[in-house]
Amino acid sequence: IITIDGPAGAGKSSIARMVSHHLGYRYIDTGAMYRAITWKVIQSRVKLTDQERIVRLTRNTKIEFKETDGLPRVLLDGKDVTNAIRTARVSENTSFIAALPGVRQCMVEIQREVGKEGGMVMEGRDIGTVVFPDAEYKFYLDATVQERALRRWKELVAKGEKADLKQIEDSIRRRDRRDRTRGLNPLVIPKGAIIIDSTKMSIKEVVEFILEHIDESEKRL
Ligand code: C5P
Repeated sequence: IITIDGPAGAGKSSIARMVSHHLGYRYIDTGAMYRAITWKVIQSRVKLTDQERIVRLTRNTKIEFKETDGLPRVLLDGKDVTNAIRTARVSENTSFIAALPGVRQCMVEIQREVGKEGGMVMEGRDIGTVVFPDAEYKFYLDATVQERALRRWKELVAKGEKADLKQIEDSIRRRDRRDRTRGLNPLVIPKGAIIIDSTKMSIKEVVEFILEHIDESEKRL
């Protein structure tokens, strides 16, 4: 098992996907699971403060991952929500839902079950600390908040969407703060993780660094 943790917009998803393709491993984006639950909560018009209903709804939800034409898709109760879970509204609210202990317990159980056979790259905020603390390879991917906001801004502009750099940076700061300060399983650097500061690195360079590290350790075994 390879774990990749880190704050919002550090490039975890692209990198985890490329590393998993290279190794022929499965790729699990745990952020997509918290986003999917948040999307369902919003759609169901459940109040964000109604913890009990949110936890019940989480327990009654089926989240699946599949690949279509080489692209990872997320299914929620059988419905493809890959694009729906990427809106600013879902991004902003997910860190509230993800802070609820009942929701986290349920997600961690599913993630452990999915990963128990190994051969997988799993990315998120608590994978190397809580979900798989004994994983063979743990990475913590970081970059300055300015660089992370700029990357997100470029992504949106490339898609022809309206984007305000300052607003994106503020939103990333808010999410990071909530993810780092929540009571249960906050975002911290996992013990034994290799820290990668990708501020001045390309995606390709980070992927190569991770693969080289894995090769080197395999050679030492
Ligand atoms: O990785 P992504 O930005 O899609 O994650 C969305 C949100 O899901 C994060 O801001 C965080 O609140 C939550 N999350 C989490 N634990 C994980 C993965 C994501 O709390 N393992």
